[in-house]
Amino acid sequence: MYHKLHSAMDSLKQNDTANSCSQGANLDAQDGEDKQFCPGYKDVDAFVKYGLGSVLLATKASSGLPQTGDEFDFYRSFPGFQEFCEVQGDRLLLCMSQIMQHHSCRSRMRDRDKLTGLEERFDLVVDANDVILEKVGILLDEADGVNRSQQPVMPAGFQPPKIVVSSWNRKGSSSGGRSETFRLLQAKNIQRPQLKFKEKVDNSNTPFIPKIFIKPNALKPLPSYFAIKQIRKERPEDLDVPAALADFIHQQRTQEHIEEMFVHPYQFELDHLTVPDSLLSKTDPKMYKPIEETSCSFIETLEDLVALNEKLNEMSEFAVDLEHHSYRSFLGVTSLMQISTREQDFIIDTLELRSEMYILNEAFTNPSAVKVFHGADSDIEWLQRDFGLYVVNLFDTHQASRALNQARHSLDHLLKHYCSVDSDKRYQLADWRIRPLPDEMTLYARSDTHYLLYIYDCMKAQLLDFNHGQPGLLQSVWNRSKDISLKKYVKPIFTEESYLEVQRKQKRSFNTQQLTAFRLLFAWRDKLARQEDESTGYVLPTHMMIKISEELPKEPQGIIACCNPIPPLVRQQVNELHLLVQEAREMPLLKAEIAMQKTKGLTPIKKPEVTLFGPHDTSRVPECTEPHFSADELPVKQGVFFSDDDHKSDDVQEISGLVACAKITLFEEPETKEIKKSHSVAQMKARRIIESFENPFRMYLPSSGVHVNENAKFDPSSKIFEISKRWKLQTMEQQQRELESTKKAKEEAKQQAKKAAEERHKAKESYKESLQNVATIRQQTAECAKADGKKRERVPSEAGPSTPKLSKKLKSAEKSLKTETPPQESFKAFDYSQSDLKVFSDTKSKDNSQFDPNRQTHDAKKKKMAAGKKGNSGAGNRSMSYLAGSSNRGFRHNWPKR
Ligand code: AMP
Ligand code: MN
Ligand code: ZN
Repeated sequence: MYHKLHSAMDSLKQNDTANSCSQGANLDAQDGEDKQFCPGYKDVDAFVKYGLGSVLLATKASSGLPQTGDEFDFYRSFPGFQEFCEVQGDRLLLCMSQIMQHHSCRSRMRDRDKLTGLEERFDLVVDANDVILEKVGILLDEADGVNRSQQPVMPAGFQPPKIVVSSWNRKGSSSGGRSETFRLLQAKNIQRPQLKFKEKVDNSNTPFIPKIFIKPNALKPLPSYFAIKQIRKERPEDLDVPAALADFIHQQRTQEHIEEMFVHPYQFELDHLTVPDSLLSKTDPKMYKPIEETSCSFIETLEDLVALNEKLNEMSEFAVDLEHHSYRSFLGVTSLMQISTREQDFIIDTLELRSEMYILNEAFTNPSAVKVFHGADSDIEWLQRDFGLYVVNLFDTHQASRALNQARHSLDHLLKHYCSVDSDKRYQLADWRIRPLPDEMTLYARSDTHYLLYIYDCMKAQLLDFNHGQPGLLQSVWNRSKDISLKKYVKPIFTEESYLEVQRKQKRSFNTQQLTAFRLLFAWRDKLARQEDESTGYVLPTHMMIKISEELPKEPQGIIACCNPIPPLVRQQVNELHLLVQEAREMPLLKAEIAMQKTKGLTPIKKPEVTLFGPHDTSRVPECTEPHFSADELPVKQGVFFSDDDHKSDDVQEISGLVACAKITLFEEPETKEIKKSHSVAQMKARRIIESFENPFRMYLPSSGVHVNENAKFDPSSKIFEISKRWKLQTMEQQQRELESTKKAKEEAKQQAKKAAEERHKAKESYKESLQNVATIRQQTAECAKADGKKRERVPSEAGPSTPKLSKKLKSAEKSLKTETPPQESFKAFDYSQSDLKVFSDTKSKDNSQFDPNRQTHDAKKKKMAAGKKGNSGAGNRSMSYLAGSSNRGFRHNWPKR
């Protein structure tokens, strides 16, 4: 036995030396090829063989150790054994600590402090394993030719740009360039600019309301709503009246201004803007100044900004472009503004001057100055969203390029074509939050506007030539540009259906469990992203969300395995995610799905290959050969809650079918043929009658006697598990038979479609009814306040899928939370007073319910404590209580398209 232990130790020791050997080898390999790969070994293969042998020996020896339990306890009664174990144990822990430290992981393995329990140490090992394996993955990728340094200064998670080497880029750094850009990529510790913002970001699930409060160059005054700060900033909470009355007053006020709130502030001016003849007639293009001879001012103070505005007011045209960051922010942040006149370039630090940028409205809305943009669609939205800036008299060279029918419409193409300049569009996706701005990025940013006025001249001339001097085509470009400047920023709004839009794009068929998982994960992701002010792609990339939904891992570890690399928030909240997946697994697999799986030999849905562009890539899943379901042709489901219901008497089946109808109102699917077929007209009638008596809140009630024990169902050791499994198999057979015997259904199909429509309508109605039962946000806030005492909890205003089962579960897990049923209140659409409209709030507000990125840092400790030691299970308990209330606000996701 001692011998076994010794040999285990020895092989581990050898392993350890082998390990450090390989690290040395890595360095060597970088230094020069001719050096020996690893001293003492002929080649990599020899080394790997040796390493594997050692690992094998160690594994064997360790499994030969006395087992926990009686055997181990017996040996442990000998002091010699005990001492030996202690010594070797310490050695092992030291060894592990060293390896972990080497990989810069947390390591307190050897800390014999009893406070760090086994569990925590285990977590440390798991974390370290993840990190090391991740590194291995990256190195293997690199060895495989996936060279990550090809994606410089990109925030992880974006697609690789086309690589065009620009002349100026090449000049500055022929060989050093790569390491330089690589270094930037490594610049990880970029301070979150959001922390500096004077006005905090409003990520609430409420419509965007324009930020403008002064309107220069107005032909029609700014609506009182925007002009009178008092109204904007007065929150119902601050009124010295009872809450209900405050709500009412606030609602009245808001209603009064609703039209004003959503109209484009410069609609009137833009409607009445006419292009002067001078802009429709031919002029000679004015050559740009060489970029090296042009001064470039970096603007980061209010004085400089004011001076720039003055200067721009004198101009008859200037070019504008923006750089944007969207990975570490929910809505995105405009990080840079470039402006070029014929003589000068300006770069504005819009992170620094975010709250002052509105000053530029004077120049930007001055109708006598042309603002030249290239592809302004997003820019127009970002200007509104971040600064309350609008553009009057826009010329978009992208629109001009389209009108001219050019081969490609990108700016780099125009630069090449008109100015023979190669631009390096790699920088387009750089992390524009980096400060101070590296020279290369500054140069790139400048080149986006520096040549634009000349390009504008050329294109104007060409548009006139195109039409033999007739201004029609040019006029159309002005018109299109105007349409773009009339665009309004729309905030991404979460609705119960949002997930379907994303799911549909994936072109995969999901069964009910998978779809449920996707829906729950989607809601979790949206909520967390808003709360933490991160992009949804940062929280949990879509392709990982798809993978988790498809695989429905049984263990938290399985969720981790679906993600590589593991997004930090996933790691932190893996228990929460696990609960969601469990919740999804509790959904019944519907007959049709089981049949489908059976015909497929129960193989899981085939996944198309996903091209990953970055570790957190959110996008681009290639088309899949699988047939996919659109929202209205989702996997067919009949009104059977659990597939094992089939064996109950017909009556029970009927009723359980009705129960299911209530449960699945969200999905709005047509009923499937098979079950309907077995109903006679009379039965259908009866069914509808019974249905009309059915309590619409049935789905929220605990399951009646119909089902025995939910947990037992999923416990492989239980009888019920066994039975239900057998039933499922029987069901499949039975269904197969049914499928074969019924091919005559064509005629009935029409009838059924009609009925399905009816059902859907009813489902909608009952869903609407159920909404009425949802408490208003204010009431919930009050409830929370009551329950929490002085500590007021944030109440999400997000609309979301109700997850009754989950919250039930969570509640029982966390007894301390309130369980009163929310008071009834009638639901009203567009009731903004009920919403978390931060726009109405003062920035210095002490209202805890408002999002405040700063608070993260201050409250981090408190939060952690509340969330429990591991910070995940507890944190999750609060998060899934979405309200169904705001479902029909009618706003949809609308990300700026690029
Ligand atoms: P540009 O107008 O080309 O300078 O682009 C402005 C901003 O749009 C960049 O800073 C990026 O944040 C974003 N952007 C441009 N092109 C893309 C793209 N292909 N994918 C994602 N974001 C983009
Ligand atoms: Mn741009
Ligand atoms: Zn740009």
